[in-house]
Amino acid sequence: MSETFRSDEHQDAQSALAGHLYVVATPIGNLADLSPRGQAILRSVDRICAEDTRNSGMLLSHFGISKPLSALHEHNESGAVAGLVEQLQAGRSLAVISDAGTPLISDPGFVLVRAAREAGLPVITIPGPCAAIAALSVAGIASDAFSFVGFLPSKASQRRERLRELGSTPHTLIVYESSHRIADCLDDLVAVLGAQRRVCLARELTKRFEQSVTLPAADLAAWLAADNNRTRGEFVLVIEGAPAASAGRAEHERLLRVLLKELSPSKAARVAAELSGGRKSELYALAMQLGGGDDEAGRVE
Ligand code: SAM
Repeated sequence: MSETFRSDEHQDAQSALAGHLYVVATPIGNLADLSPRGQAILRSVDRICAEDTRNSGMLLSHFGISKPLSALHEHNESGAVAGLVEQLQAGRSLAVISDAGTPLISDPGFVLVRAAREAGLPVITIPGPCAAIAALSVAGIASDAFSFVGFLPSKASQRRERLRELGSTPHTLIVYESSHRIADCLDDLVAVLGAQRRVCLARELTKRFEQSVTLPAADLAAWLAADNNRTRGEFVLVIEGAPAASAGRAEHERLLRVLLKELSPSKAARVAAELSGGRKSELYALAMQLGGGDDEAGRVE
């Protein structure tokens, strides 16, 4: 069966159709953000797959929705998917929801959606809140191109390494962070990306203590440290892309670090120049700074 299907069938439908999988976004804090269409679909599907059935049970009961629930989380998703696809093939309608926001965005659902599509079953989005997009929409940081990074590693050394890898990205980065690590994460941003890189911290979006502040990274770290309450809750960081010059330098550094594992500084500089279009002499100087040490082959012309 084709992976595509005609969408006009479901567009007029106010309730779930047989054999359809609905990916339904739920609120990230403010219950009023569950769309009327989301409510109608959750009310009419045969079964709801939820990341945490207790948590979703409370959301559903707020809307007076009572449905059979199946747990679908990172530990059981692979095992549960075959049975769920069979239910869809038998004509049942299913919805997938997560604890908050859009399923699949740092949340379960991907394995089920992929399996349903591979089985040629219709997969319908019921769009709505997503913390990453909500933060981007208020950050005042370029929104024309961005990468969603999800959570950075929790170990400091790995987090810094990941930030070094991402540091030269010329477009905006969006990161999720928890309250335990937000302060350390900001310190790492200052250390790796520099004090001046502009960052928006968006906290508790759509909730009572919602705040979003855009400042140079060092000032933002100081702002956070000034009041313990500011480290509470849920966070998104929207990080401005690297300035063009530093993007170039960071990319050169990345290339040279890899090449210097195998090659002398002069050879590494030559290969890096071919790959990046940069100047050999500058790359050679950088290779020596990066610990290339004495180079028998000498200076690169
Ligand atoms: N699927 C969700 C979405 O669409 O945004 C994200 C789920 S992820 C497991 C949870 C993380 O999203 C939190 O740790 C936080 O970084 C971010 N987040 C969720 N709700 C938020 C909110 N109201 N304000 C700020 N960040 C939030």
